[in-house]
Amino acid sequence: MSAGEELRLEEFLRLAREYWEGRGGRMTVVRRILCRVLFESGESIDAEALLRLGREADSLISLSTVYRTLEGLVEAGLLVEVDGRDGRTNYTVADRSTNAASHIVCADCGQVLALESPCLALREGASARAAGFSPTRIQLRLEGHCHTFRRTGTCAVGKASELSGDQSEVEPDCAGSR
Ligand SMILES: [Zn+2]
Repeated sequence: MSAGEELRLEEFLRLAREYWEGRGGRMTVVRRILCRVLFESGESIDAEALLRLGREADSLISLSTVYRTLEGLVEAGLLVEVDGRDGRTNYTVADRSTNAASHIVCADCGQVLALESPCLALREGASARAAGFSPTRIQLRLEGHCHTFRRTGTCAVGKASELSGDQSEVEPDCAGSR
């Protein structure tokens, strides 16, 4: 991780600790491991993938601990839930500055990609404020066929981690949308 990312992780851990201590809990070693994995995974991740990666650091982590940790971090506003395919929930680190998140989900294999969308809070946030709302959370979910599906006509379940770098068609473009 870059120095900037290390700083963001430290901030994430600090806020997570505050959240749990505010509820009479504490920042356990396992919670710390899971936070780090969530942060380092970059893309959104589901509970089972988080368990698998977490167990590389501590083989005794249980799925129920993973779920409780995820629940807490969502409640703390540090994670955003994204509905994947078949009701599978994915989690991604929330953008603290805007609390906006956007994702694209493959309707066939269920892979979830986070979209860098700096326009979302600016544009939709402005619309909401114009309507007299004070937006607290903005989410955008796009569904479509993934790169693998477009190329080969199929994208078998279980290959969701085979992410391609071809996101050129979904690059945000604030200027072009108005
Ligand atoms: Zn797919």
